[in-house]
Amino acid sequence: MDLYEHQARQLFEEYGILVPRAEVTDSAKEARACAERLGGRVVVKAQVKTGGRGKAGGVKLAADPAAAELTARQILGMDIKGHTVGAVMLAQPVEIDSEFYVSYVLDRTQGRFVAIASAEGGMDIEEVAAIRPEAVVRVPIDPFEGVPRQKAAEIAAAAGLPDAAADTLAALWNVLIREDALLVEVNPLVRTARGEILALDGKVTLDDNARFRQARWDARDETQDRERGGLEAAAAAKGLNYVKLDGEVGVIGNGAGLVMSTLDVVAGCGARPADFLDIGGGASAQIMADGLSVILSDPSVTAVFVNVFGGITACDAVADGIVRALDSVRLTKPLVVRLDGNNAARGRAILDERAHPLVEQATTMDGAARRAAELAHAA
Ligand code: GDP
Ligand code: MN
Repeated sequence: MDLYEHQARQLFEEYGILVPRAEVTDSAKEARACAERLGGRVVVKAQVKTGGRGKAGGVKLAADPAAAELTARQILGMDIKGHTVGAVMLAQPVEIDSEFYVSYVLDRTQGRFVAIASAEGGMDIEEVAAIRPEAVVRVPIDPFEGVPRQKAAEIAAAAGLPDAAADTLAALWNVLIREDALLVEVNPLVRTARGEILALDGKVTLDDNARFRQARWDARDETQDRERGGLEAAAAAKGLNYVKLDGEVGVIGNGAGLVMSTLDVVAGCGARPADFLDIGGGASAQIMADGLSVILSDPSVTAVFVNVFGGITACDAVADGIVRALDSVRLTKPLVVRLDGNNAARGRAILDERAHPLVEQATTMDGAARRAAELAHAA
């Protein structure tokens, strides 16, 4: 889960990293009041969970509170790489002397975090790394040692950052470890005209596996499409592996690989999958009912395709699950079921016997996908 810049800023502040004074609001009128409290001149910054806001026109200087209101009005509602701006942060402007880049990222091949630092901050770091790889320093971090001041000073020196930036590097490591983050990035970290080191931007990605320990952050992306957020939150609350997609065929399968293939096959039949839902190995009546209820509550779904290959989970158990789910969930859209593998014949017989008018069976994955696409388009 990514944090918003203003949330990252708040964390940085708690760990002793200097940040500009700032306020957040979702209203242009309020923005004027914020600007007044912050001294008049402010930087107005779009709060979206994506980078490159500056280039997209989502970071603008406003000379006074009236200009801040006007600028906030322009930025609020703006689309930045598919994210609608729902809030702006107003920050006291900083006179920049130089811009640096610092981050800790998890390097899965090395099995440890690496510090990445560059004296050429402010720009897209991938771009810097591509054009001048020698300007970007990567230092693996020993997980037992962490980043004490000495290590931080080494990283800063290797990247050509001022020694004062080592304090930020050490504090940033504490943010990473204590907040269960997988990534912390500051771009730009700046030296001001007065010689202070300040984090002007922040990106923090928390480890979702540690969410139970980091309950203070709301997992929702408020700027994301509400419908998507609602469905995904409902599915998450039920412990389902569900991702909302943009199509009309609801997809349920067992195993991530099979579900992904199913998405491809549905797309190959000229339809668009409405979701990714992996019911995993269990496929109990409860999971089936939960999954169906989430998918049926998605107004863009016009047909549902349940694709199960019985392995350890036998098809008759899945069929039982579907039949019992049909008792608790009112089926309102056609359901195409393809059962194959372990105990497929018994599973199919169970569904035949239930003879629900909206449930159809198909014997092959391709045939089932074609039928689901047909039904989805007929609706
Ligand atoms: P990003 O484009 O999404 O990475 O957003 P940033 O927060 O990094 O802002 C983009 C750029 O705006 C930064 O790299 C800075 O150069 C500039 N910027 C942001 N805040 C200030 C500020 O207070 N003063 C000045 N002079 N520039 C700023
Ligand atoms: Mn930035």
